[in-house]
Amino acid sequence: RASTIGWIGLGAMGHPMALNLFTKTYLASHNSRSSIASGYVICEQDDARVSSFLSELRERGGSELAGKVERVENGREMSKMASRILTMLPSTPQVESVYLDSTNGILSGLQTLSKDEPPLLPLATSDQTEGIERLSSSTTISPEPSTSSPVVPRLDSSTTLSPTTSSQRESSPHTLLIDCTTLSPVSAANIAKNIHGSTSGKVAMIDAPVSGGTVAAKKGDLTIMFGSSSNEATEMALPLLQTMAGKDRIVYCGENGKGVGVKVCNNLILAINQIALAEGLALGDSLGIDPVLLHNIINTSSGQSWSSRVNTPLKAVPGSPGERGYEGGFQTRLMLKDAGLALESAAALDLPIPMTWAAKSIYEVVCREGKGQWATKDFSVVYEWIKKKQLE
Ligand code: NAD
Repeated sequence: RASTIGWIGLGAMGHPMALNLFTKTYLASHNSRSSIASGYVICEQDDARVSSFLSELRERGGSELAGKVERVENGREMSKMASRILTMLPSTPQVESVYLDSTNGILSGLQTLSKDEPPLLPLATSDQTEGIERLSSSTTISPEPSTSSPVVPRLDSSTTLSPTTSSQRESSPHTLLIDCTTLSPVSAANIAKNIHGSTSGKVAMIDAPVSGGTVAAKKGDLTIMFGSSSNEATEMALPLLQTMAGKDRIVYCGENGKGVGVKVCNNLILAINQIALAEGLALGDSLGIDPVLLHNIINTSSGQSWSSRVNTPLKAVPGSPGERGYEGGFQTRLMLKDAGLALESAAALDLPIPMTWAAKSIYEVVCREGKGQWATKDFSVVYEWIKKKQLE
């Protein structure tokens, strides 16, 4: 158990992320740089996803690595076999269930472990703080499905985490949980609090949502914004996160829940920007303005955004979602979910965010229309919805 890594949720993002994590930690063990990754455990309800994951893992890491992977049915079984568990699930209900379900949840399994479980040892002995950046006013997080937008993190020396001392090591956790899902920030903080409290600090949890979409996930070039309430958890998590993230793209955001908080705020802005762009382009088209001329002027003017630069719906712009029929990218149904998370968070704090409310209502309709297919297309397809409404 002490040297086993587990992964729950092998969907569009979980599959490529787990592939990178498993192959890179396996190779590190093989090269004698680390001995921790001797076993792997996966948990996924969909058999086809498991088969496709295992066959790709065999291709990349060979049959010896694939042979080290065991499959379990639920979080409870997983927690008895793995000391480091990562999850990539759809949203809040699934994360609550996988972690806290009293029969099959991770916590229920952890509570059956012996008190003498060995403490986690770090994966690497090199500078454990390498790669941590504090979010600052000058930091930009790459938008959702970006493969090309640069992140410009600013190193802030005051946020460097102090190395763990030997006395701290004795009280180190025996299990590390990393949830990469985009879920409710309040729930993320509560789940971590519940787990820390119920295990007398012997289990450490961090929230580590990601940005960059499936392309960056495959390349191991994600931006990861994480919330962590302890140095030990951060120190143990970093080597794992580094197998999935781009250089200098692991960003410390504060205590538990703050990583997801940053992610939800970012996606709220993106949700609105993409609709604003669609409206501007649709009006330009109706006024008889050349769409590419308008596109170019927006991108050197004050209306520009990541949506206008990278995610325009215009078919005439090479590499745009419009050109590829809105395939790939960030699905409208996921943007609908994230706008809902932002609204839920704001409502709990009595904060009015009317533009997000309007954006969510629009994505709701887009998901229902387009013969039901727009829900799984890139969310820039909202432009097609506006054009269709004009004709109706
Ligand atoms: P997905 O629906 O493709 O994958 C979710 C996986 O979780 C599925 O394979 C599902 O079978 C599995 N699952 C659900 N409940 C489970 C359970 N109880 N036990 C085991 N497995 C379970 O979703 P995705 O696109 O991979 O997104 C995952 C998360 O990442 C979401 O929160 C999403 O908002 C976020 N995200 C997605 C993207 C993207 O471009 N797709 C980008 C950044 C962040």
